Amino acid sequence: MNTEYCKITGDSQADEAVIARAAEVIRHGGLVAIPTETVYGLAGSALLDDSAKKIYAAKGRPADNPLIVHIAYPEEAERIAYPDELYGELAKRFMPGPLTVVLKKRSVIPDTVTAGGDTVAVRCPSNSVAHRLIEVSGHPIAAPSANRSGAPSPTTAEHVRADMDGKIDMILDGGPCEIGLESTVIRLDGDGACTILRPGAVTAEMLGEVCREVRIAPAVIEPALAEAIRPESPGMKYKHYAPRANLVLIDASHETFVKYVRSHASGKYGVLSSNEDAGAFTGGMALLLGPRGNAKEAAKRLFSLLRRADEAELETVYAELPPAEGETLAYYNRIIRAAGCRIVKPGKE
Ligand code: AMP
Ligand code: MG
Repeated sequence: MNTEYCKITGDSQADEAVIARAAEVIRHGGLVAIPTETVYGLAGSALLDDSAKKIYAAKGRPADNPLIVHIAYPEEAERIAYPDELYGELAKRFMPGPLTVVLKKRSVIPDTVTAGGDTVAVRCPSNSVAHRLIEVSGHPIAAPSANRSGAPSPTTAEHVRADMDGKIDMILDGGPCEIGLESTVIRLDGDGACTILRPGAVTAEMLGEVCREVRIAPAVIEPALAEAIRPESPGMKYKHYAPRANLVLIDASHETFVKYVRSHASGKYGVLSSNEDAGAFTGGMALLLGPRGNAKEAAKRLFSLLRRADEAELETVYAELPPAEGETLAYYNRIIRAAGCRIVKPGKE
């Protein structure tokens, strides 16, 4: 298949014409990669069983890992699911934006989309291209991240092209994604509380402004659980987001991390490090996460850096384990999976 590549230029007339064509592709059961504020998505109609099948095939995604359904306005959740009062409160505070809410599904959503489950994950993206495509197509849109299953999620159209060229109808290039990690996925527990199934830019602390209690699913934090159990958010169980390079994740103080890399690193290696610390690792490639302590910038760059490590054919990438809390929980959750849930504790090997 020839994949058409279209740049969103900011010229509203030209962009509308591109979006109108992409919307036709969606309505006819085709696939279009689209920018969102989190990562690039692989969009197909969420009303067509065939589109969902094509998404799983293009990604090589296991059939038990359900797709998130994107809507143009929070109220449209009614069309595909049974939203409750808490959903309304969350929507007022966080939508459009990087929050996905799991709700009981209506029958218009084919079982393929939800991997056979009776719930559907609903999100309302803030990215204007994604928003407009959903609106113009008139279909809710199923859109997992537009990468080969298991690889780091794409945060630029070039990343998408590397994974999806020849497999999908169109790629819309809307520039790099603002956030860089996937949305926060939550389940509503029915008592005013919610449970985080996948952490993202909407943090537990932020959800706590609306929810009576915010719980965190154990597999979000526990590497052993992430590997071993079959959690209710099935995407949590796979080795995910992984570069081809061996990612060595180190749980230690910053000083011990530096010492460990200096004494262990050999061959072609890279280090995920803050701008300020790059000079400490002279023999390897510096994969810069941004200014020290800037969690948002690190989140934005992580997947892109893991892809860069592969482009440079690095054998090993060393990284520090961040705290499993607050603004760094999402980064922590992704990087433990990218490392296949293996964590090195120097001195305890
Ligand atoms: P991705 O589409 O690659 O961003 O991953 C979407 C993730 O959302 C999946 O891996 C699941 O973990 C989660 N998800 C989607 N639908 C559901 C659902 N109905 N219930 C729980 N989690 C879901
Ligand atoms: Mg994904």
